[in-house]
Amino acid sequence: MIIDKPDKLTIIGAGLAGALLATLLARRGWQIDVYERRGDPRVQGYAGGRSINLALAERGLHALRSAGAADAVLDKAVMMRGRMVHFSDGAQQLQRYGRDDSEVIWSVSRGELNIVLLDAAEAAGAQLHFDRRLDDVDFDTRKAHFVDDRDGSRRAHAFTALLGADGAGSALRGQMAEHADLGERFESLGHSYKELEIPPTVDGDFSIEPNALHIWPRGSYMCIALPNDERTFTVTLFLPNEGDPSFATIRSGADARALFARDFADALPLIPALEHDYVHNPTGTLATLYLERWHLDARAVLLGDAAHAMVPFHGQGMNCAFEDCVALAGHLEAGADLAQAFAAFEAERRPNAQAIQAMALENYLEMRARVDDADYLLQRSLERQLAERHPQRFVPRYAMVTFRRMPYATAFERGNVQRELLVDATRGRESLDDIDWAWLDAEVERRLPTLPEET
Ligand SMILES: Cc1cc2nc3c(=O)[nH]c(=O)nc-3n(C[C@H](O)[C@H](O)[C@H](O)COP(=O)(O)OP(=O)(O)OC[C@H]3O[C@@H](n4cnc5c(N)ncnc54)[C@H](O)[C@@H]3O)c2cc1C
Repeated sequence: MIIDKPDKLTIIGAGLAGALLATLLARRGWQIDVYERRGDPRVQGYAGGRSINLALAERGLHALRSAGAADAVLDKAVMMRGRMVHFSDGAQQLQRYGRDDSEVIWSVSRGELNIVLLDAAEAAGAQLHFDRRLDDVDFDTRKAHFVDDRDGSRRAHAFTALLGADGAGSALRGQMAEHADLGERFESLGHSYKELEIPPTVDGDFSIEPNALHIWPRGSYMCIALPNDERTFTVTLFLPNEGDPSFATIRSGADARALFARDFADALPLIPALEHDYVHNPTGTLATLYLERWHLDARAVLLGDAAHAMVPFHGQGMNCAFEDCVALAGHLEAGADLAQAFAAFEAERRPNAQAIQAMALENYLEMRARVDDADYLLQRSLERQLAERHPQRFVPRYAMVTFRRMPYATAFERGNVQRELLVDATRGRESLDDIDWAWLDAEVERRLPTLPEET
């Protein structure tokens, strides 16, 4: 029975999660107002500010399908079959992500994706209000105040409940924290990033393999490159904030050129504007946001980066934010009232957000320091064999996160068991020739219950 359920909700932020949530809710008959700090990107071009392209995986795609937006997004996406590892000696190796082309990820432009979702939200009936930055909230009278940063004007908006999709620096979270202790903790990674660009060749082609996510792992730092549909690549250099090399020591364009000449020699000739972009593009910081409480009774709830910003090394921040949208829409439909729906959403999603946050942190070490190690490669090769021998039980952790939709917490727990098995089975070995398969098969069956089919 549905009781005490209003039909009007207010979303803060029309970024990736805000626009998708608006679509899902408006399609279910809710009256939705969305307030966004920036101008309308469809009118004035995407103002961006953060990563130019993103890896979209099954969780995000599934959410887009439920909003009827998947085809429009995939139309402009570039398929990535695996990691193309660029070794220090110039050799390259494609490490496939999945079994075949049914298990791939997609490089999508943040700006284009945002525009597809804004169109979908509007078509579903949501009211979008641009140039409206949430400034403060009076939770007692349920009035939110918004500022138009173009002229400083302020407007009040009466609300029933606020849904906070306003990103890692969430203003709504700041306002909620004045009413209740949210248990907020930001943990800086101590590494930052800089975006650079590989333009197309003179013939207008991609300059390197387009259907891969390129990685140049170099121990305590790395570069990655994702393809864009206009045949460029966005390169992201991740460096520590301190030490050598770091953003403290690589300061000028000439420093950046010298670093690339030494450590990323095959990438250097592909990035003609390296010096200019290194100096002029902003340095992005990376952190994990832990929050003990995501909602304020029936009045406000947080989702996406506003609730659980994470480091980008599993390519799951947006995918997780999109899963949040589907979960919140479901709880709002099923919940007896808003407070109950928000609490149920938080109870479902918080442990899963914590699990993917932990896996994203672990993946940084794997990407920058492990993908070219001999013991790592041996474990991956055993992992592939176990996945073939036990397809219903042993699914590589990357695949559980990227190609399946089981809860992240389940992927994390099973991944830990699988890692123990791989380490135990390969300890002291240089090849898989003398693996004790009878023991290993029995261990897999004992420790990893059969996974349910996903629909
Ligand atoms: C370098 C990098 C690479 C990444 N790569 C990937 C990847 O490959 N795959 C992946 O899944 N994820 C990736 N992510 C994570 C992904 O970008 C985020 O998880 C995702 O953008 C979260 O969406 P969101 O809607 O919660 O927040 P955002 O996308 O940050 O959107 C927040 C919106 O709220 C608006 N806003 C902010 N403050 C206010 C206010 N006061 N009032 C009104 N509006 C406001 C903002 O303008 C913005 O439009 C990456 C992140 C980084 C930094």
